[in-house]
Amino acid sequence: MTGRQDIDLKDYIRHIPDFPKPGILFYDISTLMRNPDAWQIAMGRLTRQIAPLQPDLLAAVESRGFLTAAPIADRMGCGMLMLRKSGKLPGQTIAHTYDLEYGSDTLEIQADAVKPGQRVVVMDDLLATGGTLAASIALLRKAGAEVVGASVLVELTGLGGRDKLDTTVTSLLSYE
Ligand code: AMP
Repeated sequence: MTGRQDIDLKDYIRHIPDFPKPGILFYDISTLMRNPDAWQIAMGRLTRQIAPLQPDLLAAVESRGFLTAAPIADRMGCGMLMLRKSGKLPGQTIAHTYDLEYGSDTLEIQADAVKPGQRVVVMDDLLATGGTLAASIALLRKAGAEVVGASVLVELTGLGGRDKLDTTVTSLLSYE
């Protein structure tokens, strides 16, 4: 007998070649989100991966990190905060600028988002080169967080992103 838990979540991730630019294979989670059973199972499994890290807060990386962090914070009964592109957050902020393949980008956090020593797990939809999560971890530490883990739905293992992250990394689905 097959049940809901036998669902292969990889069947629900759509691969779109040459998006957003030629040569990139885009892993689209919107097809997973569209299916209520698959999405619920994915959020349950992610919650079980994160719970042992005992976070006080989940930090969601703009923008697809918001989609996973919000339901999981609700399930775990912990708070969440947003790491956003510059100029989006009101009030006093702390910024961190990091290098991209071409140019640079800046992430911001509200200066009072974390109390010193609070345990934080940072969340994004996908880990590729690790640049985004490494910058997010650096920013969270600037803001006083104890970063106890990084969690993604999808990991592209061939790019070695997890080697850039000096914290516990969990992923639900990995691809070479
Ligand atoms: P990176 O900083 O290289 O680890 O890239 C991770 C960030 O870029 C995440 O916020 C992802 O949403 C996005 N990203 C990078 N590569 C892909 C991909 N192949 N498919 C979907 N999103 C990607």
